Amino acid sequence: MKIIPPSFTVLEQLDRESLPVRIEYCGRVCYKSEDRIDRESAIPFVARMAEHGHNSVLEMGVLTLEVECRQQESIDGLFRCQPRYLFIDTPADNRLLVTGSVRAFREMLLFHPRDAVVRAMSSFLHQRHDWFFTGIPQEIAPAGEDGIRVSRIRLEEVDRLPAALLEKHRHIAVKFVVNRAVTHEIVRHRPCSFLQESQRYCRYSDDKFGSEVTFIRPLFFAEGSVEYNVWQQAMRECEKMYLQLLETCTPQAARTVLPNSCKTELIVYCNLAEWMHIFRLRTSKAAEPSMREVMIPLQEDFRDRFPAVFR
Ligand SMILES: Cc1cc2nc3c(=O)[nH]c(=O)nc-3n(C[C@H](O)[C@H](O)[C@H](O)COP(=O)(O)OP(=O)(O)OC[C@H]3O[C@@H](n4cnc5c(N)ncnc54)[C@H](O)[C@@H]3O)c2cc1C
Repeated sequence: MKIIPPSFTVLEQLDRESLPVRIEYCGRVCYKSEDRIDRESAIPFVARMAEHGHNSVLEMGVLTLEVECRQQESIDGLFRCQPRYLFIDTPADNRLLVTGSVRAFREMLLFHPRDAVVRAMSSFLHQRHDWFFTGIPQEIAPAGEDGIRVSRIRLEEVDRLPAALLEKHRHIAVKFVVNRAVTHEIVRHRPCSFLQESQRYCRYSDDKFGSEVTFIRPLFFAEGSVEYNVWQQAMRECEKMYLQLLETCTPQAARTVLPNSCKTELIVYCNLAEWMHIFRLRTSKAAEPSMREVMIPLQEDFRDRFPAVFR
């Protein structure tokens, strides 16, 4: 058995990669199959996720578009549709700022295929990324729509938006390595996208896991104290039973004996406004101490990265 401290990594560097690379990296956390990533693997991985309907993986790539419309009617049309999970602003007359994940843009086309702005955005995305709408049974306008011009807003430009737009349109992912009690609480934050290491899939008796179960050191007990020794003994027993069950059972059956202290990896992806809300709730004195253990330093990190929002 292995005991490690909790940790987090802000995946800001990943945001500078292409959409498929980002999606594959996050998706493979579920299966702990990061060793299968190579230069060719990202687009087939994304296509496979789309075909199998593992749509939450497609939430791990977010992009921002600018749409210029000659007619106000086009803008009104998009607002009438209210595509779900897209963040839409009108920073200037006849201009829209639209941010969403690959999944949100795919479902926008699926549910609102006749709207002019939807067709223009879909056409733009399809021309740039031929994998984007894999499996979506809709006809995509071949050359966009008259009077609507779509362009991509690069991350550097998003970062220069005024604070009110920045907090809504800037999304950022964080990978947590924490215990399962902490992730159970984090996943209550509904506006986020999540991907988590799968205990149903991962078999911790395999070589790549060191043939052992990893636990997160609990902050409640000082190392060497009576309580810590009781906890350690309990973890040792759990691991023993788990490995014994794996001799005849599947990981999903064997995991029923694994405790809250089990290490897990969770990727949380949301905009800065939601991160602000999470910090407000999860750094307060009322929050669970193991949660505060990671959220307080993470909030400090965000203050350095985005001072205009996290003053
Ligand atoms: C100290 C503490 C103790 C807790 N104890 C318990 C407990 O004992 N039992 C328990 O079950 N949970 C508990 N929770 C979890 C809590 O109830 C919330 O589920 C969790 O904190 C998510 O926060 P939220 O609902 O404010 O916002 P999020 O889910 O993060 O959503 C962000 C914002 O989006 C909006 N929003 C999202 N979804 C909806 C919706 N469906 N309708 C309207 N507005 C929406 C709201 O404006 C919300 O503030 C606890 C949380 C904390 C911090």
